[in-house]
Amino acid sequence: MIMDFLKSHVAPADGDRHTLARHRMVEEIKAMANETYGHEPMPISEKVLSVMGRVPRHRFVPEEESYGAYYNHPLPIGHGQTISQPYIVALMTELLMVGKQDRVLEVGTGSGYQAAILAEMAGEVFSMEIIEPLAARAATLLNELGYANVQVKVGDGNYGWPAHAPFDGIIVTATADHVPQPLLDQLKPDGRMVIPVGDWSYAQELILITKSRDGALQRKNILPVRFVPLTGGH
Ligand code: SAM
Repeated sequence: MIMDFLKSHVAPADGDRHTLARHRMVEEIKAMANETYGHEPMPISEKVLSVMGRVPRHRFVPEEESYGAYYNHPLPIGHGQTISQPYIVALMTELLMVGKQDRVLEVGTGSGYQAAILAEMAGEVFSMEIIEPLAARAATLLNELGYANVQVKVGDGNYGWPAHAPFDGIIVTATADHVPQPLLDQLKPDGRMVIPVGDWSYAQELILITKSRDGALQRKNILPVRFVPLTGGH
């Protein structure tokens, strides 16, 4: 059974010692997705699980944290920032529902891990990071790993990336106290945005925003989360 799983979730060339740890991480994500914690269960599709089982998360964390790369929790990546918990990465990816033709904007490149996950599923990924050394490191790593469909830019994601707008999907991986208007403007009709909103030191909620064909916005609360703050915007 484990071999069946490995065949379907792991690239054949990937025989490294991290493969089993990735498998365990995927199993934990699945189990967590089936819990309800007072809200409806939110299953993660095989498509997303398969990508999570393939992307080498250990490459995106600092060397000294690599032992815990596949634990289901966030880790520090320097500059006071974090790589998000694998379950949350999977859930946000699931909610975005991106396809091979889609163009996606990510605000908060951080380590580049979420961008790599999205790059496996979308046509093009545009990722913005406000801390220059993080952006530089992520861009180099993504390039090294062959993610040719990701562009990383240093900048304030509150304003989006107008030169490449509109986007089919927008994902914000830091908590804002409100949804930035430029991001709403840069979302295509039929597009989806996933963003944590709230008071960064206290109550935050992951929100799914969908834009209908006529431009009307719908907002759905998904679950309580904890992210670092979205800075800039002034
Ligand atoms: N997605 C990242 C990953 O896969 O590693 C995790 C991102 S971390 C939780 C949030 C990131 O958002 C940090 O790297 C932070 O510097 C960045 N950030 C905060 N405010 C920002 C802004 N206004 N524009 C762009 N990036 C921002």
